[in-house]
Amino acid sequence: MLYPDGITCIVCGGELDRDTKYGVCERCALPYNTSFCPVCGRHSKLGGYCDRCKGKRDFSFDIARAPFVFGDGIEGVVHALKYGNARWLPKYLAQFMADSYFECGQNADILTFVPLHRKREKKRGYNQAALLSAQLAPLIEKEPLPILTRIKDTKNLARMKRDARLKEIEGAFELLPEADVADKNILLIDDVLTAGATAGECARVLKGGGAKSVFVLTLATSVIRPVLQ
Ligand SMILES: [Zn+2]
Ligand SMILES: [Zn+2]
Repeated sequence: MLYPDGITCIVCGGELDRDTKYGVCERCALPYNTSFCPVCGRHSKLGGYCDRCKGKRDFSFDIARAPFVFGDGIEGVVHALKYGNARWLPKYLAQFMADSYFECGQNADILTFVPLHRKREKKRGYNQAALLSAQLAPLIEKEPLPILTRIKDTKNLARMKRDARLKEIEGAFELLPEADVADKNILLIDDVLTAGATAGECARVLKGGGAKSVFVLTLATSVIRPVLQ
């Protein structure tokens, strides 16, 4: 996945044609998230509310959106971003996220990101959500502002069931002492939204600090089954 910057496709590494969108070649059909739950943004074939958003507010965030569905084509990109030291990827990926931000019509006061625990960040050398925010910032004309800190070094949530994820992530975040989120609309960046446990917990803390709304924007989101009408 570690191809040189600006020469080859960010997905397959193939040569780029001249009129290429955001560093992706024409042969790579990325899984765009075109139908999704109007609240949490998770993908389903028919769109419509998911079982966690239909008739109730299960998430602490107000809405979530992602340009891609997690799966073939984007899985490798996310893996390179998280574990492959591919620090050049956010420059391209942020452009897709900016499109989703504008499509959504939200206007954020503060752009921030899901923090890593300092131990994890030290080991990895960077926080991929912070890199995405830094590249998104000029595209949407905001300054990224760290306002959360991760006080708990949580286990990898990827293989856990939803209840276990929620339990593991509970109490993992705190507002930084200098953060002032009162009455602010927050745009929260992360790489992937799956069960929404991480974004939901961040949003709960932000709302606890008085934030007016929390809009979650990730690169990719998971597939859900829609609720039968
Ligand atoms: Zn390609
Ligand atoms: Zn939903």
